[in-house]
Amino acid sequence: MKAHEYQAKELLAEYGVPIPVGGVAKTASEAREIAAGLKGQIVVKAQVHAGGRGKAGGIKIVSTPDEAEQAARDMLGSMLVTHQTSPEGVPVNAVLVAEAADIEKELYLGIVIDGVAGLPVIMASESGGVDIEEVASTSPEKILKAYVYPGLGVRPYLARQLAFDLNLNKEQVKSATELISNLYKLFEAKDCSLAEINPLAVTTDGRLLAVDAKLNFDDNALFRQRDVEELRDVQQEDALEVEAKSKGIENYIKLDGEVGCLVNGAGLAMAVLDLLKQVGGNAANFLDIGTINDPDRVVQAIGIINSDPDVKVILVNIFGGMARTDVIAQGLVAASKQMEIKVPVVVRLAGTNVDEGNRILDESGLNLIRAYSFKEAAQKAVEAVQKSN
Ligand code: GDP
Ligand code: MN
Repeated sequence: MKAHEYQAKELLAEYGVPIPVGGVAKTASEAREIAAGLKGQIVVKAQVHAGGRGKAGGIKIVSTPDEAEQAARDMLGSMLVTHQTSPEGVPVNAVLVAEAADIEKELYLGIVIDGVAGLPVIMASESGGVDIEEVASTSPEKILKAYVYPGLGVRPYLARQLAFDLNLNKEQVKSATELISNLYKLFEAKDCSLAEINPLAVTTDGRLLAVDAKLNFDDNALFRQRDVEELRDVQQEDALEVEAKSKGIENYIKLDGEVGCLVNGAGLAMAVLDLLKQVGGNAANFLDIGTINDPDRVVQAIGIINSDPDVKVILVNIFGGMARTDVIAQGLVAASKQMEIKVPVVVRLAGTNVDEGNRILDESGLNLIRAYSFKEAAQKAVEAVQKSN
């Protein structure tokens, strides 16, 4: 789950990380009021769950409350498209209005879980402000890394070493040491999967200031992070993913290809994505229906996949263990009666009650593309996409 910048900054402030003075506005007149209470130049920032706002017109620096109101009016209600969003963009329903920082230098500071090391890793760089992925690929040596053993937390020496390596002066090293340790405390306490300050500004008067902030939270920890869950803004999320969750389907993931995938089990889902790639295709999404044995769940699942406009073919690939393939077949038959399925459907069933499952499909009179092996199913799905183009 993601949070907005203003929400992330409120949490940062709670944990003692310095942020610019400001407030969040949902209307242009609120933006004006907030701006009237601020000193110096003012920055108006679109609040969306995506970075790259600077280059996309989602950040304006202005001089007066009038201009702040105008900037807010331009942004609010619009869709912001950045290199991190879909081509339709994401809605701007709030803007952050804050005192603009006088920036001398932009640093990067982030904490993520390193899946390979199995540890949180703090990353810091003097090349902040820009896309850190870009820095990581062109000049990885510019990114400092320090692993944290959760039992020990951030030892002072570890934060101090990072601060020294960022070429900060003595005073700044002190505040950076504290800041890094505070960011880690937040990361741990709130079950973050990412805590990122980019840029972490060194201001012209020598202070460190979190000019941007991004927090992502581990969805699996939300049961014990009720206050975090309240920060959820579903309008920023993929509409079909939200619908799937509301129907109790945990694993529906939107991707950017053309094949809609109905599978059971996360492992099979990953294998389907790999195999599609291998035969020249790409998944538009995958929906893991789990071990559900209720035909209505299949109808709901097909309904979600069928409403994704990117889907050019539906691939149903079920390996029945606990899940019964005959129930899946019944669900497919019911789905085709209840809705107009606009694209070809490739079905491959294997495992529990497969003879019965195949019999139901054989006798259904449905115009399905049948496959009897995994690879055949992937190939037929890709062929169907090619035909539709
Ligand atoms: P992002 O593009 O979505 O990551 O948004 P950021 O908040 O990181 O802003 C992008 C860039 O805009 C920063 O790297 C800064 O160069 C500039 N910027 C943002 N806020 C301020 C500010 O308060 N003062 C100044 N001088 N520049 C800012
Ligand atoms: Mn940023």
